[in-house]
Amino acid sequence: MVHLGARAALTRKPSFDAAALPQAEEVAKEPLLLGGRGLIRGARAKREDGMSRRSMDSSEEAKRPTDDRHDGRDDGDERLEGPPPAVYDRPIPDARVDPDAAKVLRRLTRYGHTAYLVGGGVRDLLLGRSPKDFDVATSALPQEVRRLFRNCRVIGRRFRLAHILFADGKIIETATFRRDPAQRIESLPGILAEGIPLVPGPPPVRLVPITDGAAAEEDLLIRNDNVFGAPYEDAVRRDFTINGLFYDLERGQVIDYVGGMPDLLGGVLRAVGDPAVRLREDPVRILRAIKFSARLDMGIDPDLYDAIVRHKADLGRAAKPRLLEEILRFMRGGAGHRSYYLCWDTGVLAELLPELAAFLDDDAPDAGLTWSRLAIIDRMHAQGELPSDAVTLSALLLGPIEEAIEGVRDPSRAFEDFMFELTQRLTLPRRLKDRMRALIASQRRLRSGKLGTLPRRDYFPEALALFMIDRQARGEIVPEWAHQESKVETPPTRRRRRRRRPRG
Ligand code: ATP
Ligand code: MG
Repeated sequence: MVHLGARAALTRKPSFDAAALPQAEEVAKEPLLLGGRGLIRGARAKREDGMSRRSMDSSEEAKRPTDDRHDGRDDGDERLEGPPPAVYDRPIPDARVDPDAAKVLRRLTRYGHTAYLVGGGVRDLLLGRSPKDFDVATSALPQEVRRLFRNCRVIGRRFRLAHILFADGKIIETATFRRDPAQRIESLPGILAEGIPLVPGPPPVRLVPITDGAAAEEDLLIRNDNVFGAPYEDAVRRDFTINGLFYDLERGQVIDYVGGMPDLLGGVLRAVGDPAVRLREDPVRILRAIKFSARLDMGIDPDLYDAIVRHKADLGRAAKPRLLEEILRFMRGGAGHRSYYLCWDTGVLAELLPELAAFLDDDAPDAGLTWSRLAIIDRMHAQGELPSDAVTLSALLLGPIEEAIEGVRDPSRAFEDFMFELTQRLTLPRRLKDRMRALIASQRRLRSGKLGTLPRRDYFPEALALFMIDRQARGEIVPEWAHQESKVETPPTRRRRRRRRPRG
């Protein structure tokens, strides 16, 4: 069983040295306050002094719309194109970028819009991983996107965004750049990633959202009231610096407003802005931080780590279905062991699944088995097998559930009692809970080897998968009949669902 080290081991220091950047420091002498409604006057004049995007020469700029086109947007304020981001030459081989996403990006730019690959797709490509999805952000409004693509559907009530549909159900989510109206933004000296050529230009800045004292006292919970904005605003509303990078496909350049590139190279997960504020705005970011740190094997920046520990109780204010989704994603992402260990280590587990946290805290005799089961599920994931959510959740909770039902007269009732609060806390669908009960109840039969009518049940492949995970976790040999049975009918894999939430 592999245990992660204590906090120190989880946190690696980034390898860059901000003090070694004289040009960036020059910018710091005059911090800018951007965004929100209080836009600085004279910003345009400043931009003409060389604050425009450094990678564009004037003829290119004339061809492209500026980022501050705000027709149809929320206000008539004079807006900034934005301060200069760090722009890195970092061409990603064509073969690695989804051809349909590339098609979307190229057509948008051909028609005069700014369009970037954004979010997890950029992050994963730069890390050499295969992205789960390729999301696009653009200056084009949703109706403009629809006009350019026949295969396009505009979705979302509060925030409209375009889904461009391709063969085999593939969707390229294409969102207009947006901003968080509650955010004010500060610019600090840019921190640069070492070893990647920076496109020459004026000194880059790093943007962070700030709150004033009054706002900090208010309830910070955001309710997705984003409005259209400029690229730099879109970068700053994102959760972690590594998720705030934009990729300009045409130029093969990474555009970094938030210092994501040095963090990506240094293996540091850091919040954009004050971590305490960002976690209070949206407590689900606590679980996202754990997920990314675990999945990408990144250290958590100490301030973010402290904020997680301090604000973990805010998870109670988050939308419950989102909590469940993130919990299930821990294992779907192939890093269940590390994710749950981090949850336990930070005290987040006691908020989410106190039943499991208490079991682990008490050092129950079978507590170690929980970690082994998670490690085995991660191994299955690495081999391309994805057990169903019912299997992974049952494996996660098998220890405390078996403890609760052992020796009682009515195990089914004991199971329901155990699950009662948990079901409410996470709005666990009844179907999922009933499935878990069937899987866990079957374990006794499977262990005895007397299967009876079990193989005829529709849940048998899943029950068998749980049995095999448990056997391996216990270091026991999986009986030959189980191998044979599992070959007859492979356990159903989880249906891959696309995220439709208009976020990100
Ligand atoms: P995954 O590989 O798990 O899909 P991802 O980074 O793509 O990771 P998504 O949930 O698909 O994560 O979101 C896409 C992007 O939207 C993120 O990279 C991030 O920039 C932004 N985002 C998503 N959720 C939030 C949030 N709660 N707060 C701020 N930004 C968010
Ligand atoms: Mg994604």
